[in-house]
Amino acid sequence: MTVPEPNTSEHAWSEEPTPVCPDDLSEGTWELLREEARRAMTKAYVPYSSYPVGAAGLVDDGRIVGGCNIENASFGVTLCAECSLVSDLFMSGGGRLVAFDCVDGDGNTLVPCGRCRQLLFEHGGDDLILNMPGGRSPMSVVLPEAFGPDHLSQARDAHSAKH
Ligand SMILES: [Zn+2]
Repeated sequence: MTVPEPNTSEHAWSEEPTPVCPDDLSEGTWELLREEARRAMTKAYVPYSSYPVGAAGLVDDGRIVGGCNIENASFGVTLCAECSLVSDLFMSGGGRLVAFDCVDGDGNTLVPCGRCRQLLFEHGGDDLILNMPGGRSPMSVVLPEAFGPDHLSQARDAHSAKH
């Protein structure tokens, strides 16, 4: 079995040196996110659908994290771009997502699927701003009345108050 040579011609995501002010969601910041989402899209592993997706997110400390979709012969275990983005978020230091963008193979704006809205909510909450085809929207609009970590902590608190 041959192990593929690592691609050293391009830097790893975690070395991406483009810190951005997370409080400054300017047009320039959104352009940078789009650029990074497109770059992530070129890394997609899509031998079955030929439908590459790339995603980029701005973290509250100014980092930009990215992800691409990674298909699998057992289709059900295919990873969306948001899955690898969340992995990148944790592998590069954690934090909260403040802005998110996602593109298809032509570089056009793409919506996160239902599961990924939940995934992004966990790490950005109601205030995460998403670039959607109809314009930028907070997560509270993209996934209204979301189930999240607060529900579990409230249930835990109510339980421990009783004992
Ligand atoms: Zn998804």
